[in-house]
Amino acid sequence: MSLASRNAVVTGSTSGIGLAIARALAKEGANVMINGFGEAGAIEKERSGIETEFKVKCLYNGADMSKPAEIAAMVHEAEEKLGSVDILVNNAGIQFVSPVEDFPIEKWDQIIAINMSSAFHAIRAAVPGMKSRKWGRIINTASAHSKVASPFKAAYVTAKHGVAGLNKTVALELATYGVTSNCISPGYVWTPLVEKQIPDTMAARNLTREQVIHDVMLTAQPTKQFVTVDQVAALAVFLCSDAASQITGANLSMDGGWTAA
Ligand code: NAD
Repeated sequence: MSLASRNAVVTGSTSGIGLAIARALAKEGANVMINGFGEAGAIEKERSGIETEFKVKCLYNGADMSKPAEIAAMVHEAEEKLGSVDILVNNAGIQFVSPVEDFPIEKWDQIIAINMSSAFHAIRAAVPGMKSRKWGRIINTASAHSKVASPFKAAYVTAKHGVAGLNKTVALELATYGVTSNCISPGYVWTPLVEKQIPDTMAARNLTREQVIHDVMLTAQPTKQFVTVDQVAALAVFLCSDAASQITGANLSMDGGWTAA
């Protein structure tokens, strides 16, 4: 499959799942705009590396996904410099773990903004172009937590359930325009986001690092293995193919059986 004529924006793609998705789309020939935080030199190395390795255009936009105006400007910059936004991957996300009664209000607001509202703002900006060209792929990196809850993740679980609802609504609105919208819902994927939440979970549940990995994280996952970023990226690439044109409004689990339980 080739995505050679397509242009993609992948939010939160300086690390983890987003970076793997951006690289996988570029490998199929799509031009990509990457986004996210990080050290300028490392981001530039990644950006230029994608261009050299995959012979595509790769741009970087540092929009903060908690700022609606910056999100819209990022989509418009991609349309201007790449020609269109055919594929939008709403992936940026953060985590915070705390009992609900102690959950810091500013963390709640930040997670709702970055993990949920940013998808709305990006979709809102990208949809007019997709509709006019009668082709588009919207992919939301949701989570097993868009389907089930875990304790101490009030904001994250709320935001991901919200993304799942937004996904279904957008899919219905765009169903006759050749534009699909789907969620990919991974279980635990080994990325910096997961690694960073280990200390907080250790504190919240009074556990050791090994106990958090084996008794909290992989306990939820019947296969007892982490999902890999490349597996998530491969599903994203498939959702961009013509074979996936009738998959829309779906929330596809990739969680080692977690939500089957
Ligand atoms: P990660 O920490 O490796 O990457 C997160 C990316 O988002 C980074 O590029 C970061 O710079 C960017 N980001 C964070 N805040 C931002 C902001 N305000 N503006 C712009 N960019 C911002 O995390 P990851 O594990 O790759 O997570 C990616 C997505 O996958 C998230 O939505 C996460 O909720 C979801 N997810 C992850 C897992 C997992 O186990 N890792 C499981 C299910 C879902």
